[in-house]
Amino acid sequence: MPEGHTVHRVARLFHALFVGRTIEALSPQGRFSQGAASISGRSIVAVDAVGKQLFMDLDNDLIVRVHLGIYGAWDVTTHPDNAEVAQILTSLGAPRSRARRFGEWEGDHDAPDIFPPPPVGQVRLRLVADDVVADLRGPTACEVITREQADAIRHRLGPDPLVMTGARGQRVFTERLLGTKRPIGLVLMDQSVVAGIGNVYRAEILFRHRLDPYRPASSHSPEVAGALWKDWGSLLRDGIATGVMLTRDDLSPSERKKALRSAQNRHWVYKREGKECRVCGSVVAMDVMSARKLYYCPYCQAS
Ligand SMILES: [Zn+2]
Repeated sequence: MPEGHTVHRVARLFHALFVGRTIEALSPQGRFSQGAASISGRSIVAVDAVGKQLFMDLDNDLIVRVHLGIYGAWDVTTHPDNAEVAQILTSLGAPRSRARRFGEWEGDHDAPDIFPPPPVGQVRLRLVADDVVADLRGPTACEVITREQADAIRHRLGPDPLVMTGARGQRVFTERLLGTKRPIGLVLMDQSVVAGIGNVYRAEILFRHRLDPYRPASSHSPEVAGALWKDWGSLLRDGIATGVMLTRDDLSPSERKKALRSAQNRHWVYKREGKECRVCGSVVAMDVMSARKLYYCPYCQAS
């Protein structure tokens, strides 16, 4: 599932590509025809992300909310002859790219030389503006809502370190984390406690702090909560900058460079079940916690 860093990257890209421009909106698949019609021909005035939610504000006071969920992805394609828009994509860290996918996996995708490219597969929403096409496939949510509805959704979400900055974010996170007896491994994925953490960051943050995923969240100190909050903020910023969830902090600069290119050495425990823990050498475990796979080291993360 795409985590908070991906959604923030999409928000930044869409801000650069679409804000201030009139867009054409379509639903080639047909499931979003009415929603697309209500925003087509309008201009986008703002794009932002909170956790895994993307909000695009139109000049008619309607807002498009998108949650990619587990399978959702955006494909952004620029005109083959327009180097300027391709450059905006490139500035996100996609060398000489004119087509890029943002989903669970991020990277360049093939694009035909015809522009706009014919829709492939189940495109729920297609946004077109000035030599750019963004196709949305497989989202959990794609809806047109009012400002009041958007505010209510934002209000229900836990803090996102890039949105609720400074001491306030840490205070709200600490209150919510320590206010529940549920296992901390569950609580870190609860979007009303903290927004943007998914399965990869959950497992890796718990390992980085050597925390037992099964221990009640409420049993931790405010100092631990503060450290988790700050760590999540720095991981999120790094993920936004690189487009990669690189969570190991024991790598040399050259190892880090390598890990940015290949997934093998990025993580402490995520998807490493049965392998040796990089710290203690015991076997990394995988359990199912609330229908999601949980990876941890039973020795390093014992209570
Ligand atoms: Zn270990």
